[in-house]
Amino acid sequence: MTTPSSHHNTILVGAGPIGLEIAVNLKDKRVDFLHIEAGQIGQTITWYPRNVRFFSSPERIAIAGMPLHTANQEKASREQYLAYLRSIVEHFDLRINTHERVVAATRDPSTNIFTIQTQKHTQTYTYTCDNLILAIGDMHKPLKLNIPGEDLPNVSHYFDEPHNYFRKKLTIIGGRNSAVEAAIRCQRVGAHVTLAYRRENFDRDIIKYWLYPEIRSLIKSKDITFIPNTTPIRISPTHTTLAPVTWSDQTTSATTHNTFTINTDPEQLIDITHDFLLLLTGYQQDTSLFKQLGVNLEGINRQPHFDPKTMMTNVPNLYVAGTATAGTQTKFLVFIETSHIHTTRIIQSITGATNNPNLLNNLCHNISQPES
Ligand SMILES: Cc1cc2nc3c(=O)[nH]c(=O)nc-3n(C[C@H](O)[C@H](O)[C@H](O)COP(=O)(O)OP(=O)(O)OC[C@H]3O[C@@H](n4cnc5c(N)ncnc54)[C@H](O)[C@@H]3O)c2cc1C
Repeated sequence: MTTPSSHHNTILVGAGPIGLEIAVNLKDKRVDFLHIEAGQIGQTITWYPRNVRFFSSPERIAIAGMPLHTANQEKASREQYLAYLRSIVEHFDLRINTHERVVAATRDPSTNIFTIQTQKHTQTYTYTCDNLILAIGDMHKPLKLNIPGEDLPNVSHYFDEPHNYFRKKLTIIGGRNSAVEAAIRCQRVGAHVTLAYRRENFDRDIIKYWLYPEIRSLIKSKDITFIPNTTPIRISPTHTTLAPVTWSDQTTSATTHNTFTINTDPEQLIDITHDFLLLLTGYQQDTSLFKQLGVNLEGINRQPHFDPKTMMTNVPNLYVAGTATAGTQTKFLVFIETSHIHTTRIIQSITGATNNPNLLNNLCHNISQPES
């Protein structure tokens, strides 16, 4: 157990897959480090729907040089991957302060020392360090629609378990993997599913290849009701009100992007009855630690500024790793599989030494693009 107010060479925040991969390598280099995690290890993955499968092949999401096999040669499920992460922690005997959240962080420019304040249950702790690594992920809270009724008890931004919706009227808002997968699974357990999406169709390039034909088929057979080109404008305990949207291209000197206008003409609105409503419209990063520490946040994604050679941000000795590097991803480009290389760069920058290649995903130098 770490004593409160202790000083460390490095503090590593976040024990998702990339935080764990960094921890294995810091330990290998005998760096004095403290590892802090707000929830349990793999916390982001704990809120994936039960039995959901990764789109990445197992070898691409394996970490710390430890192979990941699945019994049926399929993609790993949430449950398999969490078990794998627990094995990693046990095998390398990683010491992690779990269920302890970093709530504040500052850096004293005169001493170059970081001060970290954490909260564990009702206790607060303070630690100091020379190097700080934020591997805190990018999906901290739902992207809210900010419409009336969004906080009703039968409305959720998280899909966890299809069984809850057996013989219930379920409306799902969204059209990416999470919404499409929820629609298919809930229809299969006997829910009456309506799927509403603000686009005309799903983007075949981003939907998991095994889901796309199935959702098209279920819509064609009318087992799922699909209402494209609509967005919800208000929610009651029993209804979702959808308004039609019209898309147009908006061109600036640098880019062209689509925008939509919402038609709120009462004649055009569609009321859908529901027992439950799932708003699967994405998640956003909590940037408060970056802001407190003075990290520049850039572009539409509010992406933390960092040097890709070292992963150091514009704040000296403050590093960022994993999906935390991406800000809030409007188009998903940064994943576990593209982030293994961050470990190599951070270890090199902090220790001046090359990391042990046996303790890293051996594909790490070859993956710059996600698999699908
Ligand atoms: C349904 C679903 C399927 C996905 N499938 C894939 C896939 O197939 N392949 C893929 O590569 N990615 C996939 N992803 C994305 C995947 O979740 C992330 O790529 C992965 O979790 C990122 O790992 P990470 O270590 O960078 O961040 P995370 O796993 O998000 O870890 C960050 C950790 O930091 C902790 N943390 C955050 N703030 C604090 C704080 N203030 N104090 C202390 N701790 C903190 C969090 O609790 C969390 O445990 C999927 C996501 C979802 C939702």
